[in-house]
Amino acid sequence: MKYDYLIVGSGLYGAVFAREAADKGKKVLVIDRRPNIAGNVYTEKVEGINVHKYGAHIFHTNDKKVWDYITRFAEFNRFTNSPVANFKGELFSLPFNMYTFNKMWGVVTPGQAQAKIDEQRGEIKGEPKNLEEQAISLVGRDIYEKLIKGYTEKQWGRDCTSLPPFIIKRLPVRLTFDNNYFNALYQGIPVGGYTKLVENLLEGIEVRLNVDYLKNRKELGSLADKVLYTGAIDEYFDFKLGTLEYRSVRFENELLDIPNYQGNAAVNYTDRETPWTRIIEHKWFEFGKDENGNDLPKTVISREYSSEWKPGDEPYYPVNDERNSKLCGRYKELAETEKNVIFGGRLGEYKYYDMDAVIAAALNKAEEELPE
Ligand code: UDP
Repeated sequence: MKYDYLIVGSGLYGAVFAREAADKGKKVLVIDRRPNIAGNVYTEKVEGINVHKYGAHIFHTNDKKVWDYITRFAEFNRFTNSPVANFKGELFSLPFNMYTFNKMWGVVTPGQAQAKIDEQRGEIKGEPKNLEEQAISLVGRDIYEKLIKGYTEKQWGRDCTSLPPFIIKRLPVRLTFDNNYFNALYQGIPVGGYTKLVENLLEGIEVRLNVDYLKNRKELGSLADKVLYTGAIDEYFDFKLGTLEYRSVRFENELLDIPNYQGNAAVNYTDRETPWTRIIEHKWFEFGKDENGNDLPKTVISREYSSEWKPGDEPYYPVNDERNSKLCGRYKELAETEKNVIFGGRLGEYKYYDMDAVIAAALNKAEEELPE
């Protein structure tokens, strides 16, 4: 046997695990069926701009261990995510903060904002049972209807009453003039792009691209003692218990011969009528400058359209409703019986992981697998 680990997928989970295993003296081979490394954090340079090809990725964490780890492989800039919501042409600040409440209700003080929220949240009695109830009980019906309902229904293709409360709890609600989207001590974008970061993680490690593990699993599996699989868990088992649902995203990218399209990295379109969920203007992740600090004359924008995943599409988001959670549990039981295969990452565990949580999970798995 040539390798200790065959790592299927070169996204963050696979790359971090590969780094740890290699640093512990293990022989590692990383394969990926795409023509590039870095999974969905892949960035590609267009006209000097690092374009997030599989959707915007903004690194943020409260976990010092993760921050110290990842900053070994890239320098991070000071980007802070402050998306703007566009509801039928009216602009609001996100996440929900004093700027939002002022625009929505004309309130000026935190006390006035709180009173408005309290008045509106009263309609929800008891523990919120779904996303709609959770949203109204956090910020009231006005904000729910203008800034949450349409966006969420486009994003998930489901009614807010059939989605779990935790999804909306990702967003902070603040009675201060602070429009930092994340409650995180550390935040930024890796200078030079995420692809470079993953390249650095994989330094000195053998990588083979355009290699599809599932199409040739016997032969590839025989190369190593153990397999770390970061692809979709249901696909691994040939969907034999049924398909898990995912949301997919379609991007319409445009290179524009103007320096500034929307003045912000992210604008969310929160009404139902606009078909896209958001527009990303990639240059603003790096303040509109190239690596030498010069202003970039052009801009690249991506309109994001959320869609139901079907075989052949890229899966992006696991859908955490009851049916899928149950089915996922049954796939996980099957995975337990698969000796010598570890399942990890957003697709391997069918879990709505952020990047920092993926890194933490990969580090934990590596510690468990490879004790000192
Ligand atoms: N959300 C919303 N309005 C917005 C942005 C987000 O209602 O303008 C809700 C929506 O339900 C979404 C969830 O908040 O699924 C989490 O958003 P987040 O930005 O964390 O999602 P991601 O960046 O992972 O796509």
